[in-house]
Amino acid sequence: MSIETGPISRVGAPRDPEAGSRSLLPEDVVRRAPKALLHDHLDGGLRPETIVELAAEVGYSGLPTTDPLYLQRWFIDSADSGSLVRYLETFAHTLAVMQTTEGIRRVAREAAEDLAADGVVYAEIRFAPELHVEAGLGLPEVVEAVLDGFRQGEAAAAAAGHPIRVRALLTAMRTAARSREIAELTVRYRDDGVVGFDIAGAEAGFPPSRHLDAFDYLRGESMHITIHAGEAFGLPSIREAIAFCGCDRLGHGVRIVDDITVGPHGEATIGRLASYVRDLRIPLELCPSSNVQTGAAASIAEHPIGLLSRLRFRVTVNTDNRLMSGTSMTREMLLLSEAFGWGLAQMQWVTVNALKSAFIPFDERLALIDDVVKPGYAALASAAER
Ligand SMILES: [Zn+2]
Repeated sequence: MSIETGPISRVGAPRDPEAGSRSLLPEDVVRRAPKALLHDHLDGGLRPETIVELAAEVGYSGLPTTDPLYLQRWFIDSADSGSLVRYLETFAHTLAVMQTTEGIRRVAREAAEDLAADGVVYAEIRFAPELHVEAGLGLPEVVEAVLDGFRQGEAAAAAAGHPIRVRALLTAMRTAARSREIAELTVRYRDDGVVGFDIAGAEAGFPPSRHLDAFDYLRGESMHITIHAGEAFGLPSIREAIAFCGCDRLGHGVRIVDDITVGPHGEATIGRLASYVRDLRIPLELCPSSNVQTGAAASIAEHPIGLLSRLRFRVTVNTDNRLMSGTSMTREMLLLSEAFGWGLAQMQWVTVNALKSAFIPFDERLALIDDVVKPGYAALASAAER
């Protein structure tokens, strides 16, 4: 699972010339292109400097280093190490500095600003309220701090000329027993910026059907659901998420390829479950770099996103944990451009896919597609022709 030469090893370093020549899209064009993001964890996207400053403020002395540059490298190396223990340790540090309303609000505000500066026009950021109560905060206080931070970040981004809309997904930990409570919290804040519910955490041994009570309640409330399924664990997890839990989207869902066989001449045979996912246009929240780090894919070039796009599944591109993967939406798109020759047309396709799959109301989705995304790509395409 250790990755010695994968794309992640170039993070933070200048792009090597060879890679540059393979990339079809210039970085500044990719950054300016409107992008949409559906799968991004709040506790996986902190700025290294913010972690250091918040740690000093709250008296947290557990960081491996207080040098932001080394700290950034440490996060990426730990996530790259192939060791689950080291990978989980990274979240112990980010969560340690997100136990106060001030800390949470700042992280949420900066996440919105960072995404906007990267050209993201719409983002759904998820977090697990139950992981932010160690210093005594109540679950509603955690949610309100995040929503407040998003609103501040949206205002700052608009003032800087990069408007973005940021919405929240509330995550329940599949290994714990608070999913019903988190589901009720999701419904309670549905008019204040919370647009959906998610479950996350170790997949093996913790099937989504353990939380049927929460899913039944949410469906009864007409609330949107996404479920981390088919990342480390395969088809049974995806089947349960769809059949028993009624998810609208699959968090990762990358293992749906286990239900597809490709013949010697590239012809694909699609199994029943994969067909169902494709027929119903169930969105896949694919996270290429993250999947390479966790071993769900051997490299970006071998990532199933190439095949799934060719077969026209409802593919979306996501960052998962920007800090741990040293990534951004721009970087993910550049990696896909290098690996699969993606140009602006493919970027626009996954962006429209993401907006069609977003949990905001239909008219808002349509307005973003028609008024922001399509004109944005048209302008970039005509600039490229000149
Ligand atoms: Zn995730």
